[in-house]
Amino acid sequence: MIDIDEAYRRVFANIEPIDTVEVVLDDSLHRTLARSIQCDLDHPPFDRSVMDGYAVRAADVAGAPVTLRVTGQIAAETWVDDPAGGHAWAPGEAMQINTGAPIPRGADAVVRVELTEPVGGGELPEQVLIRNPVEPGTFITRRATYGSAGQTVLQAGTLMTPAAIGAAAAAGASRVTVYRKPTVALLSTGGELVEIDCVPRGAQIRNSNQHQLHALVLSAHAEPAPMGIVPDDRQELRESIKAALRHDVLCITGGVSMGAFDFVPEVLEQCGARFHIQKMAIKPGRPIQFATTDDGTLIFALPGNPVSAFVGFELLVRPALAALQGRTGRIPKPIQAQLRGTLSATRDRRAYVPARVEISDDGLCVVEPLSWRGSGDAFGLAGANAMIVRPPNVANAENGQTVSILLLDRV
Ligand code: AMP
Ligand code: MG
Repeated sequence: MIDIDEAYRRVFANIEPIDTVEVVLDDSLHRTLARSIQCDLDHPPFDRSVMDGYAVRAADVAGAPVTLRVTGQIAAETWVDDPAGGHAWAPGEAMQINTGAPIPRGADAVVRVELTEPVGGGELPEQVLIRNPVEPGTFITRRATYGSAGQTVLQAGTLMTPAAIGAAAAAGASRVTVYRKPTVALLSTGGELVEIDCVPRGAQIRNSNQHQLHALVLSAHAEPAPMGIVPDDRQELRESIKAALRHDVLCITGGVSMGAFDFVPEVLEQCGARFHIQKMAIKPGRPIQFATTDDGTLIFALPGNPVSAFVGFELLVRPALAALQGRTGRIPKPIQAQLRGTLSATRDRRAYVPARVEISDDGLCVVEPLSWRGSGDAFGLAGANAMIVRPPNVANAENGQTVSILLLDRV
């Protein structure tokens, strides 16, 4: 049995990021940049006003309160080369200016409209009373404050969040190069399995894993390829596995333990799988296996029980899918939470307990283990948004104690 840290070393040692594709920026959410993005222009491309108010010369208002002549109006779209429209700035002048509008040549500060008073005139006053002096540069964002032309604003390897997409858009990157979404074949093994729209009879069980894994793969921003049910038959398994290995990743569930019909490891090997993990010191999920083929397909063989398959996906498959998409070494890191309830002692394996974490009124993370009744209990797992992580060989955990948790469903 290997521990989780060794498991990550073995998984990451066998993953190379996959190929890249160009997509329109709006399709890049939650994908990983494969090529960095540079500013195409200085941003902002001109000195601009931070406020609605009046462009002035600081020297003219040093003795404020003073009244200045208003010589014009500069809107945000006013042409940058000459916002003042050919007007040569003379002492004692001001121009009305809007947020984002270019600073006219001759002005060196902006006075907020709230600190002024119009004198005479209509919409555009003839004069304006400036109440207080200002420092040169006040409320001016200088050209290239945010970035210079050619400067990298998003590095390769960046996960495209809404904020990152906003930055790319500002830099003019209407198309971006991201890693392709890996396709993940989902294969459920077990002669007892039936599709979920069937009413199980006798010893039959609904193939819930396929749908759980389909959702997990989507939530990891990869492409699920559901391949249905295969009975515990070596020949049929071989054919299904061969077809599934055309994908970037295979998640196969069931048939990986010590049972008389657990043929998956043996058939995987016949299909060219080389095993890197064959047993893990975790609970649930001891029989989880990780293998690769010479073509670079990653294979995760997960136990058939829904909770074990879920834990196996969260611990190994999700970080592997991130690494395939160019975000390497993203080992899920626990955070601390206060336990509501109790937990029993652990033995020689690290335990992962499905749990519900909430933020208390005073801002603390409070975590409650779900009352799931063993690793077959898909219903007990349903409310999980975290897993409590318990090291091997620790005593009972008491109510109020601090425990480590992994948050679920992170990109
Ligand atoms: P196995 O890992 O094949 O020994 O299966 C362990 C338990 O999980 C058995 O009770 C199976 O019936 C159940 N099981 C296996 N595959 C699935 C599946 N795809 N969906 C739901 N339960 C499953
Ligand atoms: Mg089975």
